[in-house]
Amino acid sequence: MMAAEMTRPLIARLPPVRGRLSENAPLAQVTWFRVGGPAEILFRPADLDDLARFLAAKPRDVPVTVIGVASNLLVRDGGVPGVVVRLGRGFVDITTDGTIVTAGAGALDLNVALAAGLAGIAGLEFMCGIPGTVGGGLRMNAGAYGREFKDVLIDAEALDGEGRRHTLAAAELGLSYRHCDVPEDWIFVGARFRGEAGDKDAIGKRMAEIQTAREATQPIRARTGGSTFANPPGEKAWELIDRAGCRGLRHGGAMVSEQHTNFLINTGDATAADIEELGEEVRRRVRERTGIELRWEIRRIGRPLPGGGA
Ligand SMILES: Cc1cc2nc3c(=O)[nH]c(=O)nc-3n(C[C@H](O)[C@H](O)[C@H](O)COP(=O)(O)OP(=O)(O)OC[C@H]3O[C@@H](n4cnc5c(N)ncnc54)[C@H](O)[C@@H]3O)c2cc1C
Repeated sequence: MMAAEMTRPLIARLPPVRGRLSENAPLAQVTWFRVGGPAEILFRPADLDDLARFLAAKPRDVPVTVIGVASNLLVRDGGVPGVVVRLGRGFVDITTDGTIVTAGAGALDLNVALAAGLAGIAGLEFMCGIPGTVGGGLRMNAGAYGREFKDVLIDAEALDGEGRRHTLAAAELGLSYRHCDVPEDWIFVGARFRGEAGDKDAIGKRMAEIQTAREATQPIRARTGGSTFANPPGEKAWELIDRAGCRGLRHGGAMVSEQHTNFLINTGDATAADIEELGEEVRRRVRERTGIELRWEIRRIGRPLPGGGA
């Protein structure tokens, strides 16, 4: 690439779009943790075609990161270089047909569960307890109350890094516990889920039970990223963290939740570095105490502030 090309502002090197491209766009306010630096460019595609054309035409060296509603995400304080894609209105449609629910990747899991319930489709109730989008749920194989995306997925649609469209049968996603085999630069744009015929009242009751159980066990109104670490085989991360004496542990404005020790909390003025460093301290203490290496479930993106910690 020519040196002059490299020095042009990134936005001037990007193809025209019908959606919105914003420079230096704050991200903290759209994350659950409410921390982190800006996106160098935030792209909100108008629809699938807009996103596909953009991916096909953008310069190869420009990194692209997709986010959902950032309920499983720690954006580092120095922000995210390149383009951050956030799926908006063009990706939130949900339709039902018999016992099949089709949803855009930007749709909230809660809305998928509600739409299924209204149509008398049982089996997707667990989604009402996951505060993310369909796209984030596919990437994380999100799950709760004994079910996960893997159990209900028929197929998913995705765009690869060059904007080509692929339909993947559920087995092709290689979903396992909080894991998906699909290349990291692919963007999910929609999915189909299968439930079974059910009774609307019973479905509504099950969803209410799930909401009540969540309120009782998780700090769902806090600034958090959900479960911080994946459960190691045969172990519960929260128990290991508790045994290592980390309940209520603080670092800067970050704290290990008292209510659920696998949740980290921004108590008000935390930086992303506070949260990441606290997570690393928890990993260190658990390793020392139990010999077990915890794996981050929360995705960390972007770069630290120059001279900053994490
Ligand atoms: C209070 C609370 C409770 C939670 N409870 C649960 C729970 O019970 N079970 C559970 O599994 N999780 C839980 N989570 C975590 C989180 O809600 C899930 O992981 C959810 O699936 C993340 O979706 P998201 O849209 O917020 O994704 P984000 O957090 O925005 O992104 C997560 C990952 O998915 C990728 N991604 C997002 N959209 C797409 C897309 N369209 N295509 C490709 N990749 C994409 C991102 O690049 C990132 O790597 C909880 C979180 C909170 C804050």
